[in-house]
Amino acid sequence: MITTVIDDITIHAFTCGQVKVKQSHRNPSPGAPVILLDPFWTDWLPIWVWVIEHPEGIIVVDTGENEQVTNDTYLRCGGVNGWINRKILRFDIQASLEIGNQLKALRIKPDAVRWVVLTHLHIDHTDGLKHFPRAEILVAKTEFKQPYGSVPCTFPQWFNPRLIDYNQSNRHFGKAYPVTTDGRVIIVPTNGHSHGHQSVIVRGSTLDVFLAGDTTFTEQQLHHRQVAGICLDKTMDSRTIDTIRQYCQDRPAIYLPTHDRASADRLKSHQLTRIVN
Ligand SMILES: [Zn+2]
Repeated sequence: MITTVIDDITIHAFTCGQVKVKQSHRNPSPGAPVILLDPFWTDWLPIWVWVIEHPEGIIVVDTGENEQVTNDTYLRCGGVNGWINRKILRFDIQASLEIGNQLKALRIKPDAVRWVVLTHLHIDHTDGLKHFPRAEILVAKTEFKQPYGSVPCTFPQWFNPRLIDYNQSNRHFGKAYPVTTDGRVIIVPTNGHSHGHQSVIVRGSTLDVFLAGDTTFTEQQLHHRQVAGICLDKTMDSRTIDTIRQYCQDRPAIYLPTHDRASADRLKSHQLTRIVN
């Protein structure tokens, strides 16, 4: 677990289990059939979740995995998507690493979390939702209406997120949704990995923290303008990658994908993402 401070905002990062994906899932590839048939797996990758202690309340960005996913029957309810998820993902997670338990180590009660922002609805981002029945959960309207690759039967029964429309204009991303009234934590659309994928930006006085979800697997892929093997729409994804690159050129920012092993270290050392054309 790492903790860093940006002005009066504290950000914690910890990984809720680990995931392996097919190599063709992470690296550029022709797409789904190749990923299903690929015999080669990546190493274990982190599943970072981010906890933002802001004066207006605690914000959790993505909720990581839960132990039940290692049970062979967990995804059976999910039909074809459940089957595909079983074939293309492997997980390593114990109950002690679920987000609710790790929050307790920070002396944060899950019920004290005011907002949970989901970057998208894939299981490794939603499976910790069960810890937050009292939070306001923010999901992009397009993501909820057109889920891609998600397994809704794994969502808690009470799951009824606030579907956000981005109601502010944003110079880079076109539009944004302010989570906090001071505008220092905003959500921006970063679609391509799924229809309504979104990212969270914490805007500090000297640098921004860009919580990127699965826009790319690594910072390296952003540098190389490399679209991951798994994505809904490569054109949309490329456009998102270019927009984030432009953002990082115009503002000092730390770009932090969910499955990049180096993300937490970059956050801890405030290592900016410097784009070289
Ligand atoms: Zn993911």
